[in-house]
Amino acid sequence: MTKIYNFCAGPAMLPAAVMQQAQAEFLDWQSMGRSVMEISHRSKEYIALAETAEQDLRDLLCVPDNYKVLFAQGGGRGQFSSVPMNLRERGDSADFLLTGSWSEGAITEASKFLKTNVVGKVVMQDGLCTVPSITAAQIDQNSAYFHYCSNETVDGIEINEIPDCGDVPLVADMSSNILSKPIDVSKFGIIYAGAQKNIGPSGLSVVIVRDDLLNFAMPETPTFLHYQTMANYGSMYNTPPTYSWYLAGLVFKWLKEQGGVASIAQKNAEKAVLLYECIDESGFYVNKVHPDFRSKMNVTFHLPNPDLDAIFITESEQAGLTALKGHRNVGGMRASIYNAMPIEGVVALTEFMRDFARRHK
Ligand SMILES: *Cc1c(COP(=O)(O)O)cnc(C)c1O
Repeated sequence: MTKIYNFCAGPAMLPAAVMQQAQAEFLDWQSMGRSVMEISHRSKEYIALAETAEQDLRDLLCVPDNYKVLFAQGGGRGQFSSVPMNLRERGDSADFLLTGSWSEGAITEASKFLKTNVVGKVVMQDGLCTVPSITAAQIDQNSAYFHYCSNETVDGIEINEIPDCGDVPLVADMSSNILSKPIDVSKFGIIYAGAQKNIGPSGLSVVIVRDDLLNFAMPETPTFLHYQTMANYGSMYNTPPTYSWYLAGLVFKWLKEQGGVASIAQKNAEKAVLLYECIDESGFYVNKVHPDFRSKMNVTFHLPNPDLDAIFITESEQAGLTALKGHRNVGGMRASIYNAMPIEGVVALTEFMRDFARRHK
């Protein structure tokens, strides 16, 4: 079998070492003669697993003590509803930065619970997507929270500068770039991320929430989504997705073995540079994002003629480079190069792209 490099945007590839360990202990975890998914979440063995996973995540992101780490269900979109429900009693409106499809999804869902104001938007400048800086003066200081998406997975736009929203809690959807680089958690009120990009299998989401924000939920908030309740029960008010939590724990251990987020950030930067250089030097492929906002996780590009798209997809699949088709809303191509993508995969992709460009110029 040819070596396959999987560029899927999500659910994305997981580190090979993690998959091998999961396979090796699939039927018999910790010599219990059972799979980890067949034991009680209240058993001491599982509780130890859950606590270790949380601690490893805390270590990786240097999460301060005044934050809770929750392992929630419902993925990234689940939090599009959970966040407004849990902060509704702080104010009857929220402010948003609109940068692409995911931040738009968060706004649409939040508007079911409170008034939504878009205070900044992605703009096209000289044909390149550019994101405005956000300052406290633009934010309504009475709003329940300010929300942005730190990496727009579909569009390939990443925001590196943390918006300044004054005393209003900053909420970030980090589904597709969490753990890809160090972040200053203390700047945020809530960070959430669906797991299927840099953490583990889909369905699970991680929520990092500052203690003072645990008690602003609207009374109608379903109990299992209520942050304070989740925190009180160690994310086990109802049965958590135990196998996904276990796999996330293996990914956190793997990441620590890689040297943590500072070290993976360097590797991610190297991978992104290789790919963007290949695009820029080609005179063939085009990326439409301003260099300051180019995503290091999702690299989007277009071919000079959309008629070539199908050929590119067929040939890349044949070369073992899979899932490069761009999102249906934007077309073109997208290479998702999360933490688990080895540099060899990116090198193989750039070699293929150079060869393809030469043959189709
Ligand atoms: C993938 C993704 C989501 C949605 O996750 P689901 O688990 O499908 O709900 C939300 N936000 C961003 C930025 C994503 O990349």
